[in-house]
Amino acid sequence: MEPLTAVVVGHADLGENDRIVRFLTAERGRLDLVARGARASRKRYGGLLELGTRVRVIPARGRGALVRIDSIELVKAPDRARSDLDRIALLAYGCEVVARLAGEDMPEPRLTRLLVVFLELLELDPVAGPASRIALEAKALTFAGVLPSLTHCAGCREPLEDPVVFGWESGAAHAACGAGVPTTTAHLAALEVLRRTPLFETLELPSPGGWLLSDLVQHHTRRELKSRGLLASLV
Ligand SMILES: [Zn+2]
Repeated sequence: MEPLTAVVVGHADLGENDRIVRFLTAERGRLDLVARGARASRKRYGGLLELGTRVRVIPARGRGALVRIDSIELVKAPDRARSDLDRIALLAYGCEVVARLAGEDMPEPRLTRLLVVFLELLELDPVAGPASRIALEAKALTFAGVLPSLTHCAGCREPLEDPVVFGWESGAAHAACGAGVPTTTAHLAALEVLRRTPLFETLELPSPGGWLLSDLVQHHTRRELKSRGLLASLV
């Protein structure tokens, strides 16, 4: 079998000895594989199973819920992204957001590439700020087909004018045309700019702030983002 292009995006313990490792792969989307002996011996896999590590992994043959790792090799491990708390928090958040929006058993080349670029960004100076974090959210939601228009009303299709609201299911709308949390056309326009700006160009951009798109990820996936609390406490 060809190796999968993968990023480690999470894990859970499995019994005394093993660990379930969650990968985001370009070829098969989100994929959980069993790492035999990963709990019993950390040395066995070195740093290969740490969050944000890029690997090439081959699943063992077989189907079902608990397929094990047949082989795994390092492509690139986070370096600076493990060295300070801001970067660690961003790494955890990026992995969680992108993986959460990825499908299972379907190719996800764009989301995987997005996460790889975000991980590369975390190795650079200055440390990524909220603009980069929001750009990541906007792009991930767009690639997942979730982010609606930020410039036109979901109700009447006309250009947005204040007052506007943002509905988790319905998207942005004139306050008269829809329901949702109040926001502004200026805020939505700033999100639209970040959606369209390459990640590497977001380091110097001002941030519109806020967690609107992060909230959208949570509503869409019906679960809280575990890594958001730490990140929010730092910025
Ligand atoms: Zn309208």
